[in-house]
Amino acid sequence: MFNKILIANRGEIALRVIRAAREMGIATVAVHSTADADAMHVRMADESVCIGPPASPQSYLSFPAIISACEITGAEAIHPGYGFLSENAQFVQIVEDHGLTFIGPTAEHIRVMGDKITAKDTMKALGVPCVPGSDGGVATLEEAKALGQEMGYPVIIKATAGGGGRGMKVAQTAADMESAFMTARAEGMAAFGNDEVYIEKYLTTPRHIEIQVFGDGKGRAVHLGERDCSLQRRHQKVFEEAPGPAISAEERTEIGRVCADAVAKINYIGAGTIEFLYENGEFYFIEMNTRLQVEHPVTEAIFGVDLVREQIRVASGLDMSFSQDDLEINGHSIEVRLNAEKLPNFSPSPGRITQYHAPGGLGVRMDSALYDGYRIPPYYDSLIGKLIVHGRDRAEALARLNRALGELIIDGVDTTVPLFHALLAEKDIHTGEYNIHWLEKWLEAQA
Ligand code: ADP
Repeated sequence: MFNKILIANRGEIALRVIRAAREMGIATVAVHSTADADAMHVRMADESVCIGPPASPQSYLSFPAIISACEITGAEAIHPGYGFLSENAQFVQIVEDHGLTFIGPTAEHIRVMGDKITAKDTMKALGVPCVPGSDGGVATLEEAKALGQEMGYPVIIKATAGGGGRGMKVAQTAADMESAFMTARAEGMAAFGNDEVYIEKYLTTPRHIEIQVFGDGKGRAVHLGERDCSLQRRHQKVFEEAPGPAISAEERTEIGRVCADAVAKINYIGAGTIEFLYENGEFYFIEMNTRLQVEHPVTEAIFGVDLVREQIRVASGLDMSFSQDDLEINGHSIEVRLNAEKLPNFSPSPGRITQYHAPGGLGVRMDSALYDGYRIPPYYDSLIGKLIVHGRDRAEALARLNRALGELIIDGVDTTVPLFHALLAEKDIHTGEYNIHWLEKWLEAQA
């Protein structure tokens, strides 16, 4: 096992990793930009290194700064968290070239899954059901129009390098194709330096269901059921739950087995998420994320396992601490994402926290790097915390969420907390009857 690891991230996920490492008796190194000198992850780690100015490219994304921090402190491995360098194949290669361990999948797996076309081809070949669409990239507008005609509208044009909801455009009819095709390409180029696009059938009322998988890199893999992340705004998740209210035990076992087998066959190592759209009882693969997800705690809650601990174990060469038969679902869990944003426009609301009080009690977990007097810098993601609740069933989890939100105090900045109070007053949230468009439609109706 490692003696010391470096966490190449900030905020709540850096704390999350420090907590797992501490329980394992592993020393931790935090890295931070000058804007984060007073951040909680810096205070909580055993050591810290300032790696550059506020702008991420010069700090949290800087390969030389992070590798140097490892060498100075003697850290043997790097946990990337999510975002930043977590899915950067080139970084993984460089980490390994320096004789360090990347706590995550191989550069090759990141590369294959980071390109949505090769990811889809790979998954198809492994027997995972995919959204019907073009066979690989679509190079010209004529080809795109012909495919639209053949598949039937609506269709979605997606940048193969896309992520975070960028580089995706829907064409409702043939008349939309030209602008959708051109915009998706332009966005792919501007945001990811790659204008290759592909086309998929646009599913009209699906749910977003993702399967948590975990591999040991030696051909063994398990699944940890699904998360329903259908409540999204601009393709960004805001509320996640496990198990999914629309998924039966039989469906879970079946799709879970397909996913675990697929990643076992490619010797996948560590945590991964296979994302599907789910409509009329069918699963359609859309992409695989080769990292720990923001919403991983809902899975941890219902299975009672620590996914970060497990990531560190397999990265160090140990076996997983559980097998498929050990994994049993217990109750229901819900996570809400607390962003420093001002409603109704969700505009960023950085600033000083004048008062912070985290909720507690049975079945409540608050993952946040906030503290009284903390100043949220304007340079990074607006996620300031995740409130996760666990109950014996969905109704208990919802009641607990309501209770915990009532206890939470975050003063000094605007947050998305009022959104969740409002959602908890909606019948559809209680019955679980929502799909990927529900939240956008609801927000429109409130405006
Ligand atoms: P990103 O990598 O940007 O997150 P994804 O491929 O994961 O993109 O898709 C994000 C979201 O976009 C999905 O959760 C879903 O809401 C929507 N989406 C993607 N593909 C389709 C599709 N074929 N039909 C309908 N909605 C889709």
